Amino acid sequence: AQKRYASLRGLPAEAKCGAVIALHMNAGLMADLPSLEGSGAEGVGLFRTELQFLIRNRMPKRAELASLYKRVMEAAHGRRVAFRTLDIGSDKVLPYMKPNDEPNPAMGWRAIRVGLDKPGVLRMQLQALIRAAAGRPLTIMFPFITEYEEFIEARALTLREVHREKSLGHPVPERLEIGAMCETPSLAYAPRAFFEAADFISVGGNDLKQFFFAADRENERVRRRYDTLNLSFLSFLSGIVRRCDEVQTPLSFCGEDAGRPVEALALAALGFRNLSMRPASIGPVKALIRRISLAEVRAVLDEAQAAGDASARPRLMEWLSRQPE
Ligand code: PEP
Ligand code: MG
Repeated sequence: AQKRYASLRGLPAEAKCGAVIALHMNAGLMADLPSLEGSGAEGVGLFRTELQFLIRNRMPKRAELASLYKRVMEAAHGRRVAFRTLDIGSDKVLPYMKPNDEPNPAMGWRAIRVGLDKPGVLRMQLQALIRAAAGRPLTIMFPFITEYEEFIEARALTLREVHREKSLGHPVPERLEIGAMCETPSLAYAPRAFFEAADFISVGGNDLKQFFFAADRENERVRRRYDTLNLSFLSFLSGIVRRCDEVQTPLSFCGEDAGRPVEALALAALGFRNLSMRPASIGPVKALIRRISLAEVRAVLDEAQAAGDASARPRLMEWLSRQPE
């Protein structure tokens, strides 16, 4: 199947209406980087940094992290890599950290909450990223930001580290882009100042969906109960698109749904112009986008909404079945 999509590798994900969707890939290992060439992804929209912390039985050293991040940036050959800072705590317990006994780990002391309350590890990771970038552009995004203040604090922490590196005489990134992941409904209602302050926003749909529907993503009994194409959810996502558009803040979507062709179509039709997915999904998503007009997909979504459908999926599938190959 990958062969079938190989001919599309150099082509844009351009819909019949002319809209172009940037397709990026998700990664978490050095070994993922060759897929950048193979898949035709424009960059790494989400680099999950947890693995480097989970595979060892001790805390990785700053120099080890810096060397890995540098190799990742080199392998990307100038393409953008969005490094997501450590999303750990609660369920993903580091073997060398005292475990927390929390009744609801997904809603517990995790990700940026740990980073801001006990900034030692986050600062070390930021230093490694800053050193690795040396003279190159650097893109950092913070996981699980739930309010404006957290973003401001995390950004200030980052700028302080850049300043510190500079004053120590180390080279610093040529450019710095600092974004936030939108993974909780609260952030979608943050003040306008948040949307202006973020250099970009990336929707972490896996978490956002679990909190929107109050359905644990790890619980087989409920995790597929609510459809991504549920119209309440689409209307909510559409609000995020609008808020970003108002202040012209770049928006992307990096949850697993971005890599599901029909879901990707719906997201693109809502206005997401940047999708990040596992490398194997790039071909199928691109092939489908190139076959259709997003304006027509949008019309189908609007029709489903007006009809009071629970999910846009039945109408969308029916419409798709009538589209020429
Ligand atoms: C997400 O929540 O959608 C996401 C991309 O992050 P993760 O799957 O690592 O929680
Ligand atoms: Mg997440």
